[in-house]
Amino acid sequence: MTDTLHHKGRRRQLVEHLAERFPFNSKVLEAIGQVPRHLFVEKGLDQFAYFDRPLSIGANQTISQPFTVAMQTHLLALSKWDKVLEIGTGCGYQTAVLLEMGYRVFSIERQKSLYLQAQNNLFATGYKTAHLYYGDGFEGLAQFAPFQGIIVTCGASMIPQKLADQLVVGGRIVIPVGATGQTMTVVKRLDDFSFEEETYGDYSFVPMLPGKV
Ligand code: SAH
Repeated sequence: MTDTLHHKGRRRQLVEHLAERFPFNSKVLEAIGQVPRHLFVEKGLDQFAYFDRPLSIGANQTISQPFTVAMQTHLLALSKWDKVLEIGTGCGYQTAVLLEMGYRVFSIERQKSLYLQAQNNLFATGYKTAHLYYGDGFEGLAQFAPFQGIIVTCGASMIPQKLADQLVVGGRIVIPVGATGQTMTVVKRLDDFSFEEETYGDYSFVPMLPGKV
């Protein structure tokens, strides 16, 4: 499947819809306008790819709805070349958006089948510079730390300490926190020992689970 004029038109409409809902950073909207979301979702669901809704990506997981992807990317508020760690690669869509932002992207997925699927999706769509890892996101990637930003795309019951430790001073984690429903939370590292939290409304994510499968 390719990226046709029809898909591009639908994508432009999605971006307009997002811009009406929230004053997102224009770079975030441009990035969403570039990534062919229909090439990341399950076959047969591509016709729904440009609706603002979550979709199945197999393995009992979902790709977040575009509004949520835009909001998490907006809240990361990083600069070009910054190093970002994503927890929950899923189908690789959010990873592609982060690459479009010009960040250096590291991403961890705990399900082997999705890790492989993301690799295929990203390669097929020309996003070849992401550093993808199969592992447990609770561990982070200490060997590449510190990160300017960490984005968690699954719901965590608490803020994982190891992730907070892998942040530069001045960096931030964007993480949905809560066992059932989640509150979008931004954790800023103020210095070696202190962090500050801000919240940004309620969301519903698949859970962050320990270990890899
Ligand atoms: N960013 C993804 C969202 C996928 S849904 C996308 O754009 O498609 C969240 C993902 O987090 C799922 O694939 C799930 O398997 C993964 N996940 C859950 N707990 C995890 C953990 N501890 N480490 C890494 N990935 C995890």
